[in-house]
Amino acid sequence: PPRVGVLALQGDVREHVAALRSLGAEVVLVRTPHDLGTVDGLVLPGGESTTIDKLSRIFGLREPIRDRVADGMPVLGTCAGLILLADRIVDGLPDQQTFGGLDVTVQRNAFGSQRDSFEIDLDMPLVCDDPVHAVFIRGPLVTEVGPSATVLGALPDGRVVAIEQDNLIGIAFHPEVAGETRLHRHFLARVAAGDAD
Ligand code: GLN
Repeated sequence: PPRVGVLALQGDVREHVAALRSLGAEVVLVRTPHDLGTVDGLVLPGGESTTIDKLSRIFGLREPIRDRVADGMPVLGTCAGLILLADRIVDGLPDQQTFGGLDVTVQRNAFGSQRDSFEIDLDMPLVCDDPVHAVFIRGPLVTEVGPSATVLGALPDGRVVAIEQDNLIGIAFHPEVAGETRLHRHFLARVAAGDAD
């Protein structure tokens, strides 16, 4: 089976591990550069992007993750994870950094506070035939899409909430808390395709 990591510094790590294991993946919790070296793909969970950014620097993971992203390792980022994959962020903390890789601008907390969380079914024809159940919890929004990024999903009003670019998938919502595994399946297919090269 594909061997994939979940960045386990902060956030909803457990939910991603469960989703990936339910699909038959071998899952490693990534907390050190050594852990990272053992995986063929990485999930960046939802949580607090500012905290995950700081901890990744403290744990010496920032540069190794950036190197693996540049090297083509498949990465799935959800919510805070999407923020961490974005080349540009709006409403970040003054010293907030990202791993980058997705040629997009992402606005943090674009939907307001925790109380403005919502759920909606989204068509994602490039991922699967039937609508995906999307849970938004203080989620970000993709406000600018660069020429090499592909929109995977948008709200009914057209605002972009899911993006793919080469090895990177960024989702503004939380498939992992809704028992929604089709985005994880899409990610694992990329990992498997990378193995075949
Ligand atoms: N608001 C969070 C952030 O800016 C993301 C929220 C989430 O991952 N559910 O990192």
